[in-house]
Amino acid sequence: MQTLGLYLSIPFCKSKCTYCNFASGVYPASQIDGYITRVIDDLRAMRSHAAEWGTELPEIVDTVYLGGGTPSLLSAEQLSRLFSALRREFVVLPASEITVECAPGQLEDASLASMAENGVNRISFGVQSFIDAEAKHSGRLHTREMALADLNRVRSAGISRLSLDLIAGLPGQTAGSWQESLEVLGSTGVDHASVYMLEVDDDSRLGREVNAGGFRYYAPQVPTDEAITDMYEEATGFLEKLGLQQYEISNFARKGRESRHNLKYWDRKPYLGLGLDAHSMLRAEDGAAMRFATTDELPGYMEAPSWQPRRLAREEELEETWFLGLRRNAGVNLRELAAQFGEETVREIQPTLVDLECEDLIVLSGSEVRLTARGRMVSNEVFERFLATTPVS
Ligand code: SF4
Repeated sequence: MQTLGLYLSIPFCKSKCTYCNFASGVYPASQIDGYITRVIDDLRAMRSHAAEWGTELPEIVDTVYLGGGTPSLLSAEQLSRLFSALRREFVVLPASEITVECAPGQLEDASLASMAENGVNRISFGVQSFIDAEAKHSGRLHTREMALADLNRVRSAGISRLSLDLIAGLPGQTAGSWQESLEVLGSTGVDHASVYMLEVDDDSRLGREVNAGGFRYYAPQVPTDEAITDMYEEATGFLEKLGLQQYEISNFARKGRESRHNLKYWDRKPYLGLGLDAHSMLRAEDGAAMRFATTDELPGYMEAPSWQPRRLAREEELEETWFLGLRRNAGVNLRELAAQFGEETVREIQPTLVDLECEDLIVLSGSEVRLTARGRMVSNEVFERFLATTPVS
């Protein structure tokens, strides 16, 4: 039975974090109601769109993820409207994983109660740093105390699956302060953590400032690339010792507590994304992947989501299989790859595999190909080597 993951994008934030490169913004709260109505309209229309595009839209949903943005800004009533609409349009299995991303200090009691009533069983907190000055200098609105208090509130509301996000590379961060953030994370006993390395690119205010050699947003205090890599490595070892096994480049969990929703992205299972800048992958009737996304401009989205489904060529599917599969510690299975793309495809990639193994970037064990710890550090380079060799027989 094919099941569906459902992603709902809530792009509203109270303030814009300096490092943020997401399609999110600070909009008047009065716009949220209209936005929810727009998303519900899309939910209702999706089945007929899917039929028009010749894509299969599974009726059974087993993961739901409200991301953003800051979904914890939704009121109790807005949350209930959304969850009622999605249960009207889809069969949401009772054992579904239902996650909401929350910003510490931005979760009202009534909204938390509504989440619990509506079946939310997993919360992901965007903490980024437990050092108050680091959080503040990055534009976050919480302190360590607020974040820890929220974790207790959520547990008291009966939601026990908790994840915390940390970012390595925030301005002012040092090896010592990073260690402190990790230790506080460890003390919370959460069963999942995500660790991201700061992305310095022109898509965020901080990234632009760093690239321009400017002084705003504490840009000169951004740690060096080497220091950021060391922090990531430190986190990997620390979290493993806590019993949070790495299962993807940025994700760590106790056994059985991996994000089932996010695994669908890397395993290329069907998912539907609704709302601003939401991405989807469904399957055409012949099994080919169809991808589509909504615009990242809020006014444009409110007029029309402007989906333009695109059928992937087999070369693109193969590239994705490598690119997404290698992100997972489980890696890519060559037997499955051969079954899907042909024996010749696997034969032609062998020289690249041998080279990468000699360079200690991948490990080959039986029919599994996985990144090594070193390969994960330079994963983009490794992916490029695979993408340069993607024949399809
Ligand atoms: S809360 Fe998240 S989405 Fe909003 S500005 Fe900060 S990083 Fe971006």
